[in-house]
Amino acid sequence: MRETWYERFADSPDVLKSARCSQTVIPVLDLEIGGDEFITMAGPCSVETEFQLMATANHVRRAGARVLRGGAFKPRSSPYSFQGHGLQGLKMLARAREESGLAIVTEVMSETDVPLVAEYADILQIGTRNMENYSLLEAAARSGRPVLLKRGMVATIADWLRSAQLILDNGNPNVILCERGIRTFETAMRNTFDLAAIALLKQISHLPVIADPSHAAGHRELVPALARMAVAGGADGLLVEVHPNPDRAWSDGEQSLDFAGFDAMMYGLEPWLEVRGQELVRREETGTGPVEALG
Ligand code: PEP
Ligand code: MN
Repeated sequence: MRETWYERFADSPDVLKSARCSQTVIPVLDLEIGGDEFITMAGPCSVETEFQLMATANHVRRAGARVLRGGAFKPRSSPYSFQGHGLQGLKMLARAREESGLAIVTEVMSETDVPLVAEYADILQIGTRNMENYSLLEAAARSGRPVLLKRGMVATIADWLRSAQLILDNGNPNVILCERGIRTFETAMRNTFDLAAIALLKQISHLPVIADPSHAAGHRELVPALARMAVAGGADGLLVEVHPNPDRAWSDGEQSLDFAGFDAMMYGLEPWLEVRGQELVRREETGTGPVEALG
């Protein structure tokens, strides 16, 4: 007999669609993730300077992004790479939210940092290296903030859903799954983008699913195509790295789009969103502050 997805993922029952819940919609400030609007989260890999962050926030907002990303605590593969500004980075993110009106998603790397990061961020990002750090997941869950759970780079879909289940078990229903590529034998790209995982999750799970084409590809020229595929595959949104001058970025410059590249990517998404009956809302620059600009 054919095994059903419900049997296969029987140890994470609460993440699966049911008669009670077919889609989780997560309210964050003035927007909803998993709802009718396609949500683009964009910004630099790392928060570097006030200018870098503000310029990026204002630009991506005008181009249709709804959430600003940026790491203040950075999980770097080398101990000699930039590790992030920590609290100063969180403060810069909060100022960028004030100025742009964008919600903030930023990574939390350790259980002890959860209260601090939760004070500044609207969404807590759990990075690929921490997907199975269960004490961190529990602390993040208990913070009450929505949790963006990146797929572990060597995690199966079942592993990933178990981690999501743990967050739900700890009283937090607001989990966003983020496919960011996995390790395979292919090394031309930084990771292998598992588009089929997005298609499957949209069929079986009620949790919002977003795609990170930047970490999946590792090369900026591939990011727009992967983003279009994610839209066609049913993703609820994107997480994309954008930098005013990617060649001088302190981290992940090779995969970061510049402003023109981000605009082009967003225009390229429109026909695909139209097929889904969605449109991108671009926000005009008014120079009168975030409230008026959003109104
Ligand atoms: C990031 O978003 O910059 C990041 C470190 O992502 P990941 O955990 O997917 O490598
Ligand atoms: Mn990055």
